[in-house]
Amino acid sequence: MAPDNNAPQSNFIRNIIAEDFKTNKFGGRVHTRFPPEPNGYLHIGHAKSICLNFGLAAENNGLCNLRFDDTNPTKEELEYVESIIEDVRWLGFDWGDRMYYASDYFDQLYEYALQLIRMGKAYVCDLSPDEIREYRGTLTEPGRESPYRNRSVEENLDLFERMRAGEFEDGSRVLRAKIDMASPNLNMRDPVIYRILHAEHHRTGDKWCIYPMYDFTHCLSDSIEGITHSICTLEFEDHRPLYDWFLDELGVYHPQQIEFARLNLTYTVMSKRRLSELVEKGFVTGWDDPRMPTISGLRRRGYTPESIRTFCERIGVAKRDSMVDMALLEHCVREDLNRRANRVMGVLRPLRVVIENYPENQVEELEAINNPEDPTMGTRKVPFSRVLYIERDDFMEDPPKKFFRLGPGREVRLRYAYYIKCVDVVKEEKTGEVIELRCTYDPATKGGYAPDGRKVKGTLHWVSAAHAIQAEARLYDKLLLKANPASECEGADFRDCLNPDSLVTLSSCSVEPSLAGAAPGDYFQFERRGYFCVDAKDSAPGALVFNRTVPLRDTWAKIQKAQKNS
Ligand code: ATP
Ligand code: MG
Repeated sequence: MAPDNNAPQSNFIRNIIAEDFKTNKFGGRVHTRFPPEPNGYLHIGHAKSICLNFGLAAENNGLCNLRFDDTNPTKEELEYVESIIEDVRWLGFDWGDRMYYASDYFDQLYEYALQLIRMGKAYVCDLSPDEIREYRGTLTEPGRESPYRNRSVEENLDLFERMRAGEFEDGSRVLRAKIDMASPNLNMRDPVIYRILHAEHHRTGDKWCIYPMYDFTHCLSDSIEGITHSICTLEFEDHRPLYDWFLDELGVYHPQQIEFARLNLTYTVMSKRRLSELVEKGFVTGWDDPRMPTISGLRRRGYTPESIRTFCERIGVAKRDSMVDMALLEHCVREDLNRRANRVMGVLRPLRVVIENYPENQVEELEAINNPEDPTMGTRKVPFSRVLYIERDDFMEDPPKKFFRLGPGREVRLRYAYYIKCVDVVKEEKTGEVIELRCTYDPATKGGYAPDGRKVKGTLHWVSAAHAIQAEARLYDKLLLKANPASECEGADFRDCLNPDSLVTLSSCSVEPSLAGAAPGDYFQFERRGYFCVDAKDSAPGALVFNRTVPLRDTWAKIQKAQKNS
């Protein structure tokens, strides 16, 4: 699918593919894959990889597979598989009938392992995990060869088959590639390719008690599927020699591994370890908590697939790690919703206003514009009556000069309605809290303009009290207090990094009656208050719950402007 509203920009991977077309390296084919491990929910970093893999395939008339890298039976669950399928689809991508599992290849991978043994390129090693680590050496010192390195092919075949048959305990033996213990690249120092693990696998059940390691599985799965460009994140750069070694030794079809920089976003974490910690310790309500950087969290928060795809295109693809400002992601959804969301009036913290000179039982249906960006979205009627709610912070008893909203004796415009003037303030006797404003309206200003040319500086949103619908609004802020939590919070108690105000719940909001039928996932702009969507889990007819996706103020646009001017 083409990225929305953005002409594709060139990047080094697009250049590599263009070059491969020229040299006919893969016979003019582009075939990528997105290979998640089903051990957690997808996050915005995965979205970058998804957009890249599916996007490159689509723009080159190619194919992209969805492949579950399910080689670790102890951490993987069906729930994760299902959420991944839902999320990739929701983002707008289609793998056709090419949904695969690395576990589908276990038989074939076992054959490849036997082949390596027969070639004298793999051996069964009886060192313990600790010993293997010790023998491996360091970046500055070469490793030592395992005493089991020179077992005969026959002995290796026998032991490996018995490993498979379940004769040995977990951790007692492994199969290792026989490469080079003196290699400057630690990944090449006889890496483990099979381990014993008596664990039930979510797909293969108890068929296997040995499982292939990631590096061995990944390149061969790519090869089996005929992948052309195997795109992965930078930390696999040092694994590429091993990727190539397996394929070359086995003499099978050889895809090209290409590494790019992973996405990091300010004020959030992306590692699944950290995300699952947030969930398990109850710091958030689940993987789909609207504060989470997960796809399901962003969806519930009100992000659209289009805005996420636009974001992924705008951040581009680079070879060096960097940190992307969360404000850019917010900018992208704001831009998208600005075009598409209906404007409505919703008062988050209501203050009662009585228009003293407005007839008691009169109701006027005033015409309101649904979206000034798009006249085809039409208009709607909003009821106006004698008792209204306005936003509590739109009134100040003793306003400073620059406050252009309501105060005693001041006049403002009510959106789509009339000019009103505050003539009296009613307070709670004991606390002194303002509980009601007494106002008058000017009937000549219907529609919000004065025939005598009299100007007001403030325009307020409002809701007719008798017609208002009660609703809950959840306002979100950054989940973490540190811009770069991955480094700034590492080691520290994670709790100390959490923003205590990441969620503010306002349970007695008043919204206009046109929202009565709002369905889960529907999105709106609450005028002057931000973009909101109906919560997909907790909202019900008669008990609406709105999530604020983003406030209206665009901090990204501000950052851009400041950079231009400096
Ligand atoms: P974690 O290390 O947190 O477990 P992972 O990278 O191992 O995450 P996978 O399920 O293996 O998660 O990732 C699937 C694909 O998504 C991989 O190709 C991986 O490189 C890519 N990916 C993961 N995180 C990011 C990120 N932050 N930015 C870009 N791509 C990412
Ligand atoms: Mg991984």
